[in-house]
Amino acid sequence: MVDKYWETKPLENMSDREWEDLCDGCAKCCLHKFIEDEDVVEAVSTDHLKKGENIHYTNIACGLLNTKTCACSKYMERTKLVPDCVKLTKDNLKDIFFMPPSCSYRRLYEGRGLPSWHPLLNKGKKSAMHKNGMSVRGKTVYEQDVDLEQFEDYIALWPVQDLD
Ligand code: SF4
Ligand code: SF4
Repeated sequence: MVDKYWETKPLENMSDREWEDLCDGCAKCCLHKFIEDEDVVEAVSTDHLKKGENIHYTNIACGLLNTKTCACSKYMERTKLVPDCVKLTKDNLKDIFFMPPSCSYRRLYEGRGLPSWHPLLNKGKKSAMHKNGMSVRGKTVYEQDVDLEQFEDYIALWPVQDLD
C-alpha cells in the first residue's frame, strides 16, 4: 500500500527524502528554455516573469543528461558544473514557474495532485511515464550538437503538455 503523503502533507513540510521522491525523473527541466518578450526574443536570466513574457521550451537537452535514462550523469556536481541548473527546493519555490506544467512539484503547488503515470504510483518505475510520452526520452538533441543562436528552430510544445 502506497503512503500517499503528498495528498496530506504540504510541500514545505516534507522531509528531504519525501521531497526527492516526488521528482518523476522526466528531465523536462533539463531542456533549454527561453523567455520571450513581446518585442524581442532573447535568452535572459530571471527569477520571475514580467507581464507579456512567455517561457518557451526547446528540445535541446543539457550535455550532462543521459537522454535514455533521463537522469543527470553528474547529479552531485550538477549545480557547480552547470550554473544554470535550477535545483528546486522548498526554499526557492518561487522558481516553480520555470518548471513544466507536468512537473510534480508544480502540480502539487497548484493543487493538481500527482498523475496516474507518476513513478510513485507505479512501484517506483518510470515505464508508465515514458510510455505516455511524459519524459524527454527519444525527443531531444544535445546542446553541443546545435547552434544555440538558432534556438527558435528547436522550440517544442511537447514539454508543456500534461496528462491526467
Ligand atoms: S546538470 Fe544535470 S540536472 Fe542540471 S540541467 Fe544538466 S542534466 Fe539536468
Ligand atoms: S520537471 Fe519536475 S518532476 Fe520532472 S524531472 Fe524536473 S524537477 Fe523532476
